[in-house]
Amino acid sequence: MKELFSGTDMMDENEKTIEDFELLDLFDITELKRINESFADACGVASTLVDKTGEPITPPANHSRVCTIIRRTSPGRKRCHLSAQILGNKSVELGRPYSRACYGIGFVDASAPIVVKGRHLGNWLIGQGNLSDVNERRVVEYAREIGADEKMMIKAFRDMPNMPRQEFDKKVEFLWYVTQQLCEHAYLNFKLSRSLFLLQKSQNELRQHKSDLEYIVEDRTNHLKSAMEKIRQFSITDNLTGCYNRLYISENLDREVSRSLRYKRSISLAMFDIDRFKSVNDTYGHQCGDRILVELVNRVTSGTREKVDWLARYGGDEFLLVMPEADEKQAFQTSQRIRKLVEEMQIAWEGRVIPITVSIGFACFSPVEAAMSVDAEMLVKAADEALYKAKQTGRNKVAANFIKN
Ligand code: GH3
Ligand code: MG
Repeated sequence: MKELFSGTDMMDENEKTIEDFELLDLFDITELKRINESFADACGVASTLVDKTGEPITPPANHSRVCTIIRRTSPGRKRCHLSAQILGNKSVELGRPYSRACYGIGFVDASAPIVVKGRHLGNWLIGQGNLSDVNERRVVEYAREIGADEKMMIKAFRDMPNMPRQEFDKKVEFLWYVTQQLCEHAYLNFKLSRSLFLLQKSQNELRQHKSDLEYIVEDRTNHLKSAMEKIRQFSITDNLTGCYNRLYISENLDREVSRSLRYKRSISLAMFDIDRFKSVNDTYGHQCGDRILVELVNRVTSGTREKVDWLARYGGDEFLLVMPEADEKQAFQTSQRIRKLVEEMQIAWEGRVIPITVSIGFACFSPVEAAMSVDAEMLVKAADEALYKAKQTGRNKVAANFIKN
């Protein structure tokens, strides 16, 4: 199949109609040459295809020697060309083959118009048939007229077979049939080529849409994921201090305790509460109290193990520090460190430094040493009891509660 829509500019290609194609666009030149030669051989006539301007597009096949001699002279060639043109025009005008004696020596020629879907693209010329109208006298006369070699012309003429009119007409019939089939074939090729092009174009557009869509979906999904992550972070974060909140404790403490039981590792919890915070609020105002809470969280965080311990606001001025894998000793050291860090805090408010302390109660559980098991609730309760003890024994203190039996 001849590829007719191979341009790269899709818009231009899209608008192409049959009007945009010439004879050699629609037909394969090698095929045309082969058909022309076969036709000439099979029918014993000279044959050639010309475009709509009369320019030959296939080499002449089976030309008679007489005509070859004639064409070697300039007047002879001109007359041949004119004759072919008039013949061609007439056949186009009639819309079917037309035959008549040529305007040169008088051999009979025929022309079949090559018309694809109403578009005239060229003519198929056959001829040089000697239907007995031309005799030797005429040959000599014409040779003189155009300045050709008389002797050579006569010799060539004598070798030329005669062809009865009826037989020539049958060849013209056949010529017409083949021409129409060729044109039909070319048109089907055009339609097929166009359909394939449109199909390819649609497929490309579809592919493009698909990838655009995939991009949009991916983009939206990423936005959604990050929005959900933000919401999730928001929901587990204490919005004043930025540490975890009570929801995070309830969602994670059970898991943390279970893990330490499963791996037989210690776990410690420290609960701390600002001493006499109410009076700080009353004296310096709620805003000052808020500032203290924020700075306290930053300070405490700096004294804990990064990515291991985690701090959550339990409520009000009370916080919970979870220390996975921390034994009694480590939990005590961390609690003391926190207590000291807070005690040493320099919180300036309206030109004054506000002293802050915390009371800390920590609970510790070691699955290896203990005869019993625990859960998150028990550990929190134990830390809370220790905190109570720390408050009772004078505040700014660390008290412990070891769960063993
Ligand atoms: P102590 O704990 O030593 O027994 O005395 P306290 O005065 O700290 O008593 P308690 O812990 O019961 O009081 C907690 C106070 O914390 C009450 C409230 O005014 C204050 N508080 C709770 N949440 C906030 C908050 O978000 N911002 C501020 N500024 N204050 C808060
Ligand atoms: Mg308090």
